[in-house]
Amino acid sequence: MCAEVVKSRLLLIAATVPPLLVILFFAVNGWNRRSAVSVSSNHSRTTISVAQMQESLARERQLLLEYEKEQSALRTVVIAQRKLYQDGQISKEQVVLAEKSFVAALKRVHEMRYSVTETQIAITEAMLGEKVLRMPGLPVGGFSQTAELVRFNGGFKWSLKEAPRIERFFSQTFGRSLPVTALGQSDTHNRLGFDHRNSMDVGLHPDSKEGKTLIDYLRKSGIPFLAFRQAVPGATTGPHIHIGKPSNRLAS
Ligand SMILES: [Zn+2]
Repeated sequence: MCAEVVKSRLLLIAATVPPLLVILFFAVNGWNRRSAVSVSSNHSRTTISVAQMQESLARERQLLLEYEKEQSALRTVVIAQRKLYQDGQISKEQVVLAEKSFVAALKRVHEMRYSVTETQIAITEAMLGEKVLRMPGLPVGGFSQTAELVRFNGGFKWSLKEAPRIERFFSQTFGRSLPVTALGQSDTHNRLGFDHRNSMDVGLHPDSKEGKTLIDYLRKSGIPFLAFRQAVPGATTGPHIHIGKPSNRLAS
């Protein structure tokens, strides 16, 4: 559930509300650029527990439901206003006003969906991260997999500067942009207290066709990664691929 899915949904809706298409095209592209990159160099030292973060995630999910309802209601209003305008009962300005409210509601939904995904992925890393650090280290080039995790300790000297190369490979292969959910350190990582400064998260299930292709590319390139599957009993996890070395706790 990432930017591309949201984008295609938005465009689907836009197809039924044609004059909004142009506004949406620019708006969605703008949102993607902003939301896909969440780099922060300031480390807040006030960390919170995974349980607290899960409470925060539950609140975000509730808000998302409310935003989605609001967006759906506003869409109905836009359709009704257009009909009234065609019948000569209201002015063009009233329709434009309703359209603007609809676009603002879509934006809120998009941002909240992104935030839910990012938080879910960070929680997954915080929950499984400690476990990863306790596992026996892999030799250079070593690969291992369990029901929860796939690990690869590639010998390539990875840094975030390599991110564009991976994005290029993915878009050339699949004709869409790589669904990056975190590039470097985000506020969520700071709050959970782990170091994600030199890592990037991709919201792809490691066992999906795209996930497998990306993993294959990373292995061939010697780029270290961790892939999180959906196998934590009793926990809502965010399956994804973490590119870079496993995250350590931030030094306090
Ligand atoms: Zn990560």
